[in-house]
Amino acid sequence: MQLVCRKTETNYPLKTLHWRSEAGHALDLEFANLIKPELVDIHKPSLWRYQAALPIVEGTVPISFGEGMTPLVPLEIDDVQVQVKLDFLFPTGSYKDRGSTVMISYAKALGVDRVVQDSSGNAGASVACYCAKAGIGCEIFVPAGTSAAKLQQIAAYGAKLCVIEGSREDTSQAAQEAANSTFYASHVWNPFFLHGTKTFAFEVCEQLGWQTPDAVIVPVGNGTLVLGAYLGFTDLQRAGVIDRMPKIVGVQAANCAPLVEAYRQQAPGPASVGTSPTLAEGIAIAQPARGEQILDAVRSTKGCLIAVSEDAIAASCSDMARRGLLIEPTSAVAVAGVKQYLQSLASDEELIVTLLTGHGLKAADKIGKLLEQ
Ligand SMILES: *Cc1c(COP(=O)(O)O)cnc(C)c1O
Repeated sequence: MQLVCRKTETNYPLKTLHWRSEAGHALDLEFANLIKPELVDIHKPSLWRYQAALPIVEGTVPISFGEGMTPLVPLEIDDVQVQVKLDFLFPTGSYKDRGSTVMISYAKALGVDRVVQDSSGNAGASVACYCAKAGIGCEIFVPAGTSAAKLQQIAAYGAKLCVIEGSREDTSQAAQEAANSTFYASHVWNPFFLHGTKTFAFEVCEQLGWQTPDAVIVPVGNGTLVLGAYLGFTDLQRAGVIDRMPKIVGVQAANCAPLVEAYRQQAPGPASVGTSPTLAEGIAIAQPARGEQILDAVRSTKGCLIAVSEDAIAASCSDMARRGLLIEPTSAVAVAGVKQYLQSLASDEELIVTLLTGHGLKAADKIGKLLEQ
């Protein structure tokens, strides 16, 4: 197993402080792995049932709470039945635990005793949680303005919080300086995280009776879900379990949509766009580091990138809550995306899968404000 920079064709050993290549590109992971129905450890009701397809270094003992295998349930959205994966039902209240359980298990196996990470909230809470379980020291950089509930959650796990006055990008900068001397447990840069989020694809496929959906609709900021889904479905196709890729549809908030803009312009990398605040704080990423990879993944599956308005996000959030699904506004972006997809992009009888990424209790303040409107 090794870390590779696909752009410069250079390799890095696993035990390195390099969190990107010398040329500044994101690193990927190369290793032999196999996903086959008969290799799934069906006695494990967690994502570790797919261990044969996960990056496991010598000495790995999974740092796990039995996470994963979230329900996939049918739900009518605008009179069309879609399949919805309830990924807000994770130990920390967001699907980020898929990535953290794999990444922190790897860090523990390497003997890492301290990590830094930067996040607008959910990834930080998730990494802090798994570090608490692993007995690893953890410092989380967050931008000022992050939901109070998320900050309290990170602090409660015992992580050190560094609140940065400035943008999300300033926050990354500060964490990356700290990462010169400490393991950078970044959900954006560390490819182990993406090999955890790929279990979303495995679970969807298994829960559909090893079928491929036609379209998978997910929110996108830094792309841990888009890229995870892409990796997972690619593994499944390579292993011959499925015979085609689903269309991957990424949804952004119109107020911060550099990938949608690049898709419209047919540009290779994220567009520089003006941004304004959005209810979808979890995906308000103006400069996604893996932007080119995200665009490639979406295009190669014949998917697309779409933007949804603040009104549509708010309406979808309230609508879901009224139907018993209390999700955070960031998560409602996917629902608003499904509505838009159904209006203009879907063909008849498509099997559409989406997911609800984050629990509403994380953003009770914002949801309270929506109810007052
Ligand atoms: C992280 C996150 C996403 C997706 O984000 P990416 O930046 O694309 O990885 C979606 N919803 C919630 C609630 C999140 O925390």
